[in-house]
Amino acid sequence: MNQSFTSLGIYSGLGFGLFLALLGAFVWRIDLINQRRKVRNKKFKSVFEELQDANFRSEQLNAELAREVEQRRLASTVFEAASEGIVILDPTYKMLTVNQAFSRISGYAVAELVGRRVDELACSRDARRHFPIIQASLAEHDSWLGELVETRKNGELYPQWLQLKVVRDDAAQVSHIVAFITDLSARRIVEARVRHLTHFDELTGLANRLLFKERLEEANQRVRQGTSRNLALLHIDLDRFKLLNDSLGPELADQVLQKIAERLTKALPEADTISRLSSDEFAVLFDAYGSLTSLARVATRLMGKLSRPIVVDGHELVVSASMGISLLPDGARDIAQLVSQANKAMQQAKHMGGGTFQFFSHSLQHSTLERLQLENQLRKAIRERKLSVFYQPKLCLKTGRLDAAEALVRWDHPELGSVSPSDFIALAEETGLIVLIGEFVLREACRQAAQWQQSGLAPIRVSVNLSGHQLRQGNLVSLVRQVLEDTGLAPQCLELEITESQLLENVDYVIATFQQLHELGVKLAIDDFGTGYSSLSYLKRFAVDYVKIDQTFIRGVGTCVEDDAITKAIIAMAHSLELKVVAEGVENEVQLAFLKEHQCDEVQGYLISSPTNAQAMADLLRAGVAIW
Ligand code: C2E
Ligand code: MG
Ligand code: MG
Repeated sequence: MNQSFTSLGIYSGLGFGLFLALLGAFVWRIDLINQRRKVRNKKFKSVFEELQDANFRSEQLNAELAREVEQRRLASTVFEAASEGIVILDPTYKMLTVNQAFSRISGYAVAELVGRRVDELACSRDARRHFPIIQASLAEHDSWLGELVETRKNGELYPQWLQLKVVRDDAAQVSHIVAFITDLSARRIVEARVRHLTHFDELTGLANRLLFKERLEEANQRVRQGTSRNLALLHIDLDRFKLLNDSLGPELADQVLQKIAERLTKALPEADTISRLSSDEFAVLFDAYGSLTSLARVATRLMGKLSRPIVVDGHELVVSASMGISLLPDGARDIAQLVSQANKAMQQAKHMGGGTFQFFSHSLQHSTLERLQLENQLRKAIRERKLSVFYQPKLCLKTGRLDAAEALVRWDHPELGSVSPSDFIALAEETGLIVLIGEFVLREACRQAAQWQQSGLAPIRVSVNLSGHQLRQGNLVSLVRQVLEDTGLAPQCLELEITESQLLENVDYVIATFQQLHELGVKLAIDDFGTGYSSLSYLKRFAVDYVKIDQTFIRGVGTCVEDDAITKAIIAMAHSLELKVVAEGVENEVQLAFLKEHQCDEVQGYLISSPTNAQAMADLLRAGVAIW
């Protein structure tokens, strides 16, 4: 039993030991498996991490690649779209890539260029000369830039701005040369145009004031250095151009200026410079003129050519000019004096009625002084009330009555006696004194007309001449209203005369002013009709009541068929527009008979009466019949 127990114990001990051993082996195995799994897991993890890493790197690479592709696409678009020519060359100057712009500039197709060396193309002499310099600069500085005159495929030369840049590889060896090419011809055209515009007048193509000044200085320099003997300056101003401009409109007036410029250029091939100084002012410079006689001959010939009729848009126009001539060193000492003397002489030619030329002489300086003196005296006369008003009656041909009178200013000069307005009105206009004179005549004439009525004479229309200055003042309507109120004269007894030429100086403003005067009841007349460039239908826009045919037409009436025709036409047209007609300067029975026959409404002139003082005029009115 014991033995059995013992053997049982031994067996159980062995069994237990075996069990333990098995358990140990099992645990060891499990542990081994665990360890292997751990190792595998670790491996997996690191593989996974590597994979992740690789994935990340590949994404980065992809992004970089996309960026690169995008950049290349962009670069290629820029390359093709650039307006500058771009050429990529290898180190031997063989063209690897060229863009469209270069193909356009050079005239070669892209395929004709790629693969060829630059110097195989048709090269200008300039480019060939520059080639070694360019090579040297590229070798030393890796770049070159400058202007070349190059040749296009068709042989045409053109200015080109070239920029070259060397590209080196990692070993610092030249891998490529990049060329940027700009065609400068378009820019040159613009530059030339700008240069032309700063020196030449756009309308006529003549030299402008700036260039003229430069040429004048140069010519003066030549005289000083003795390379030229003398200079002559012609200052030309077209007569009454403003009027032409207003009546024809600026476009046709511009055509007139172009034709005048053409005539000047053709007529004066020997001139050093012909220039347009301002609107209708031209200047001609003669370098070394022969003699005064030859200069006078040139001026006469020029005046003749300028005054030939010009046809623009179907209108035949005669444009005259006033010309002043000054000389250096025979008259002027320097350029400033030369210019001012030519201008003074031109003004003098204008005072002589235009259409003529005048050399500057020192007596002109005297006449300027005289004018200054006269202006001074006129101011004094206005201040001291030395002006008076004369009246010239107008005869109504229908009734045979003196139904109106024109007020004409007179200046009682202490030394010169009675000075005619023709001698001082122009001066008064220039100096603005006409505004004061005009106001004085308006007040005096209205006062006188009212007084005649008060003294029992039948009411008459008194007409007062207006100057363009008075219109431009802006207070004419209120002045007229005030004077009528102050003197008590009825508005229909006042007539205002304005010359055709002044009427056209500021059309819109005059129309508006005339409308207001018309509404006031004042009568309006166009003076000296026929001397301007207007037509009656055009003048009808001014709300006028009377047209006064200029004396120059009346002078020939009854004896000159042309004056007859003009006068008849003016009367007929004026009547058809419901305007009344007054003929001025009627001096004889022939004229009177003609005007009566053609239904002229009123006549004025020495035949009826010359202008007289207020007293004599009152006597005429009282007599009731005129002396014809
Ligand atoms: P106008 O208004 O055409 O005046 C007519 C001019 O012709 C007057 O010259 C007159 O004396 C003159 N005359 C009249 N009948 C005859 C004639 O039968 N034959 C000739 N050959 N001439 C005749 P006047 O008084 O020397 O005036 C000259 C110009 O001065 C006037 O021409 C007018 O434009 C201007 N004027 C005169 N007074 C004034 C004034 O108060 N203000 C303004 N703004 N201008 C005035
Ligand atoms: Mg008049
Ligand atoms: Mg007149």
